[in-house]
Amino acid sequence: MTVRAIPTAGFSAGASVVVIGAGAAGLCAALAAQEAGVEVIVLERDSLPRGSTALSAGLIPAAGTRFQKARGIDDDATLFAADIARKAHSESDAAMIERIARESGPAVEWLADRYGLPFSMVDDFDYPGHSARRMHGLPSRSGLELIDRLRQAAEERGIPLILNATVSALYADRNGRVGGVEIARPDGAHDQLGAGAVILACSGYGGAPDLVARHILEMRGALYFGHPGNRGDAVRWGEALDAKLLHMSGYQGHGSVAHPHGVLVTWAVIMEGGFQVNNGGVRFSDESQGYSEQAAIVLAQPDGVAFNIFDARIAAIARQFADFRHAESAGAILEAATIGDLAARLHLPGDALAQTFSEVEHAKATASKDRFGRAFAGSQQLLPPFKAVKVTGALFHTQGGLAVDPAARVLDRNGEPLPNLFAAGGAAAGISGPRASGYLSGNGLLTAIVLGRLAGQSAAKLVEART
Ligand SMILES: Cc1cc2nc3c(=O)[nH]c(=O)nc-3n(C[C@H](O)[C@H](O)[C@H](O)COP(=O)(O)OP(=O)(O)OC[C@H]3O[C@@H](n4cnc5c(N)ncnc54)[C@H](O)[C@@H]3O)c2cc1C
Repeated sequence: MTVRAIPTAGFSAGASVVVIGAGAAGLCAALAAQEAGVEVIVLERDSLPRGSTALSAGLIPAAGTRFQKARGIDDDATLFAADIARKAHSESDAAMIERIARESGPAVEWLADRYGLPFSMVDDFDYPGHSARRMHGLPSRSGLELIDRLRQAAEERGIPLILNATVSALYADRNGRVGGVEIARPDGAHDQLGAGAVILACSGYGGAPDLVARHILEMRGALYFGHPGNRGDAVRWGEALDAKLLHMSGYQGHGSVAHPHGVLVTWAVIMEGGFQVNNGGVRFSDESQGYSEQAAIVLAQPDGVAFNIFDARIAAIARQFADFRHAESAGAILEAATIGDLAARLHLPGDALAQTFSEVEHAKATASKDRFGRAFAGSQQLLPPFKAVKVTGALFHTQGGLAVDPAARVLDRNGEPLPNLFAAGGAAAGISGPRASGYLSGNGLLTAIVLGRLAGQSAAKLVEART
């Protein structure tokens, strides 16, 4: 992934705005740029756009939406921004957080009203760190539906989506102005395409073991659960262009991937009153802090595994997620009439699990905090039949990346915007700061959708101003 000098002969073909990557960020950027009246082309490595977006639950947090109002949920951008900043230990840029929180509601309503995405609220459980219910999802609660609907919207509007097109190099001048891109085709052919502005929407570096090992020591060698084609291209181009990299140790992990089935088990099973034990049958953390930081905590347990303990009522809530249904059909979710039987099915020490269970239920009954600081007040008792799943921790996506300003312009090492380069989604530095624990649920798609839209608008404005 190199940066080359702009050919003196120029380019025989080109577009005003070239978007690299057709995940949620790239497709939102393309839709926004086209709406602004400029010619836009999307280049995608795969034969069908999928990305990490398709692997996600497709849930987008947004504040002050009409969907929330219809449910009587009181929320606004200020409250949302405060939640993001608090979870990020105030280690992320306040102006970026404020802009993204403010644009979140309009972005979700834009996708709903202009492109017909049928969002509804997840309103039957709380996500850790959110002080209002603000997760918006599509009927299947899957990112596959999200990416398919975004692709369909782009196709219906005639936006050229060039597939099997890996961008292998950028062409730029000495001032960092990008004049075009090189495209590598599966048959080994190479094409060139000129660009008035380029939007990097090719996500993060979870699929680049060298970059993970360099920047995220605690996830070195861990299972990567995101899209394998996200190989850190934006970061490598950014380094070559002297762009500023930010929060490179930040990432979203998840401490609840069914093992060995490799299926995400929603954190709702924990937030609704479930808990995790290790293979000694004992708890080891305050799980309610968040699923992201729990990845490394679970991996630090014996054999790198844990067991989620919950019940049938919680399973009914979790079943709204396609992933949970897959986990059930894969046989990952076990059931038993008593805690003793559950321990036997899980090959856990029965006495230890029974003791742990009664401690948790006592904390619920007395509305007290447990020894890890988890507040169980308001959690319902677990009732038979009990459910359990063996899980491990995984790296979902990286949160570090290219520093951008609130207009999604890529910044150089001095904090000045590069002339015509934009970044969104996993390609840009996130708003979670430098640690896994800084990730508030939904920060991934939030910055893909909101920054993607802003990048498209900003790039369009730039090229229009030049003509
Ligand atoms: C299992 C899982 C569950 C998740 N659940 C949620 C959730 O519920 N809510 C949430 O907010 N976030 C979630 N996330 C995170 C979320 O999926 C990502 O933050 C988001 O999808 C990133 O979008 P993106 O468009 O930046 O990247 P992607 O969707 O990964 O798209 C990037 C695209 O760029 C293409 N590409 C890469 N390099 C090149 C190149 N050189 N040339 C051409 N194309 C290239 C890739 O093929 C890919 O299609 C989850 C992630 C995972 C893995």
